[in-house]
Amino acid sequence: RIAYVNGRYVRHAEAAVHIEDRGYQFADGVYEVCEVRRGRLIDETLHVDRLERSLRELRIAMPMSRAALGAVLRETVRRNVVRDGMVYLQVTRGVAPRNHLFPAADTAPGIVVTAKSVSPASGDKRAEGGIAVISVPDNRWERVDIKTVGLLPNVMAKQAAKEAGAYEAWFIDKDGNVTEGSSTNAWIVTADGTLVTRPANGGILRGITRTVILDLAAKHGLKVEERAFSLDEAKRAREAFITAATTLVMPVVKIDDAAIGNGAPGSIATDLRARFHDHAETAPRW
Ligand code: PLP
Repeated sequence: RIAYVNGRYVRHAEAAVHIEDRGYQFADGVYEVCEVRRGRLIDETLHVDRLERSLRELRIAMPMSRAALGAVLRETVRRNVVRDGMVYLQVTRGVAPRNHLFPAADTAPGIVVTAKSVSPASGDKRAEGGIAVISVPDNRWERVDIKTVGLLPNVMAKQAAKEAGAYEAWFIDKDGNVTEGSSTNAWIVTADGTLVTRPANGGILRGITRTVILDLAAKHGLKVEERAFSLDEAKRAREAFITAATTLVMPVVKIDDAAIGNGAPGSIATDLRARFHDHAETAPRW
């Protein structure tokens, strides 16, 4: 495997950044994960848009132009011979002597790109059975709208899920509402078939898959409400599911000890997964 590290393509096994990289010292960096399908980057424009926004919010410079970045992403995919898989991109505030203050203005941002042939579509088998989620208190900072590499609460939550025999953890805010998963957005379907997901105006990351599913749902005449929903409402929902570039649409069949619907993947979630596959297989719209 090959990784792109600060201007060079190097063997993945030997790819390294300096111990004074601010990503390592302070989690002072952001990332993106983008699906590769048939060699194409799915929803690339939306991912690069969000990267630019994350960087802007943290006052980190874009490490290169969008065109150059696109070329690096594609070249990394090519060098790793990835047809169906994922590409990972991380940008940090660069290498500088450890100090909480921003480094000198001429400090170059650090950039790393990797690609692997683990396709999100390989979750199709898991989607047939659906997954269990557990609820955990949302103990993250308030700027979860920025896709930073500071993911310790997410790591703890995901591990807690695994140790409880579940696949994902849903964060619950102080009002008892679901914010999102440790690395996924959360959705429910009400008794009358309305899709409900929390608005992306605080408390969650604006997932690219979430944006695409909102678009696909509208195009197919599904009713959608962007509003907060409680853990209690979720447990009584007709269906529940999660979305992310790495998991696509994944039906949820259990939340804590409550079976969702009849305990099998719901028809709307299953249908939306198929529609996402169509979206990824056909020419990208963005
Ligand atoms: N929410 C969080 C906290 C995430 O980390 C992610 C993805 O990693 C998502 C939501 C889903 O975002 P996307 O659909 O862009 O993968």
